[in-house]
Amino acid sequence: MHFDVIIAGCGPTGAMLAAELRLHDVRVLVLEKETEPASFVRIVGLHIRSLELMAMRGLLERILERGRRRPAGAYFAAIDKPAPKGLDSAHAYLLGIPQPVIVHLLEEHAMELGAQVRHGCAVVGFAQDDDGVTVELDDGERLRSRYLVGCDGGRSTVRKLLGVAFPGEPSRNETLMGEMEVGAPQEEIAARVTELRETDRRFSLTPAGVGVYRVVVPTPGVSDRGAPPTLEDFQRQLRAVAGTDFGVHSPRWLSRFGDATRLAERYRVGRVLLAGDAAHVHPPIGGQGLNLGVQDAVNLGWKLAAQVRGWAPETLLDTYHAERHPVAEDVLDNTRAQMELLSTEPGARAVRRLLTELMDFEEVNRHLAEKITAIGIRYDFGDGPDLLGRRLPDLDLKQGRLYGLLHGGRGLLLDRTERLTVGGWSDRVDHFADPTAALDAPCVLLRPDGHVAWVGDDQRDLDDHLARWFGEPIGRSQV
Ligand SMILES: Cc1cc2nc3c(=O)[nH]c(=O)nc-3n(C[C@H](O)[C@H](O)[C@H](O)COP(=O)(O)OP(=O)(O)OC[C@H]3O[C@@H](n4cnc5c(N)ncnc54)[C@H](O)[C@@H]3O)c2cc1C
Repeated sequence: MHFDVIIAGCGPTGAMLAAELRLHDVRVLVLEKETEPASFVRIVGLHIRSLELMAMRGLLERILERGRRRPAGAYFAAIDKPAPKGLDSAHAYLLGIPQPVIVHLLEEHAMELGAQVRHGCAVVGFAQDDDGVTVELDDGERLRSRYLVGCDGGRSTVRKLLGVAFPGEPSRNETLMGEMEVGAPQEEIAARVTELRETDRRFSLTPAGVGVYRVVVPTPGVSDRGAPPTLEDFQRQLRAVAGTDFGVHSPRWLSRFGDATRLAERYRVGRVLLAGDAAHVHPPIGGQGLNLGVQDAVNLGWKLAAQVRGWAPETLLDTYHAERHPVAEDVLDNTRAQMELLSTEPGARAVRRLLTELMDFEEVNRHLAEKITAIGIRYDFGDGPDLLGRRLPDLDLKQGRLYGLLHGGRGLLLDRTERLTVGGWSDRVDHFADPTAALDAPCVLLRPDGHVAWVGDDQRDLDDHLARWFGEPIGRSQV
């Protein structure tokens, strides 16, 4: 067995998962079918929880250098409201960053940690047995690993071969997106865009460099997705929507995306798992897809690593589906709602006006912001205080910032009583005592993904929860 885990696809999800696994010395190979980075440059927004995760892994500085901070807010259906006051995060902003840049940074990080990445290799088949998975590449090579994770995007080969159903709504409409030069003078473009903003006809032309514009224009119906769009498609559609094609020419790149909404029925079948767009797709409104995939990766990484290293409690790996499937369900639903709110039908416009009014209530605005930014997620870990299952913000501790203590992807006991211990779990869980920590609880146990796995002050109860999440203590497992 050469590898512990093979990951199909080196997009943001696959690259992040590879890095998470390497934190635990798991032997990882990432297979990416493309030889070159994507030529199209969509600017994606990283929301608060993803920025926090980057801080938790020591990646935030280099990501911030390459992105543009924008104020938080206007998250939901692009309704123009500022973010609610006092969002409980040190990173309460939105970071706009080109997707190829984030993919490059995550891949570089994974490789620095020791992941192997092979470009120009597509996964075309696999077979699993009791001990592992045999993965077949497009050149006929066969590789063996203990687990396979499909991070191979919305049209995932792994998901299809696995036979996992992908129910939901198919694409009904597509949007053309590309960068190109424009013949019309800037003033004419600005005047036409302003004029049409008042109507129900939606398109955008945004400056993207000297003489170059990013053009986004919807098209009714779905095309033959096998063929990329042409400049003529853009010209025709611009004329239909804006009454002029603005003299567009010399495209840098042209792409299209659909509005399908689908969710995989299962995230795991035996030794094969799904993450990111391979498990869920939805329209880009609200900018949540990449965030969701990266967060899947951080949820799955330490659990799969625990399984490979042999200390995972029996049901740990299945908590990946149990926790992340409902989160994706919620994202799909909020996206459906946002799409309705973009409709130009009178009823939908009335609901949009009403919601716009409701968002003046701080609680409503906060609820929606916490949903989109994923800081409101509370996993179901059973009965307990409200903190249980939630993420902790980046607290200031006497040892430094909390997230700085999570770079290694280990568990963490934050102890205000100064009398608890992580005992036989010290190889997997760190212990920091700080009686002055600004925490509404005596002690919390954090999982490697930063979610609160236990709240209390009783050592025996803590030991039970350490065993629940981190398996047998060293002494006992060695006997
Ligand atoms: C216009 C637009 C705007 C968006 N804006 C945002 C935003 O602001 N915020 C946000 O969070 N999300 C946004 N998204 C969504 C985001 O781009 C996706 O959710 C994200 O790319 C998913 O990442 P992934 O790694 O799961 O899949 P992908 O990015 O699709 O990566 C999959 C990788 O697998 C490779 N692959 C495929 N098949 C195989 C195979 N058989 N073998 C090996 N490799 C394979 C592919 O080449 C690719 O590199 C937007 C999407 C669109 C279309």
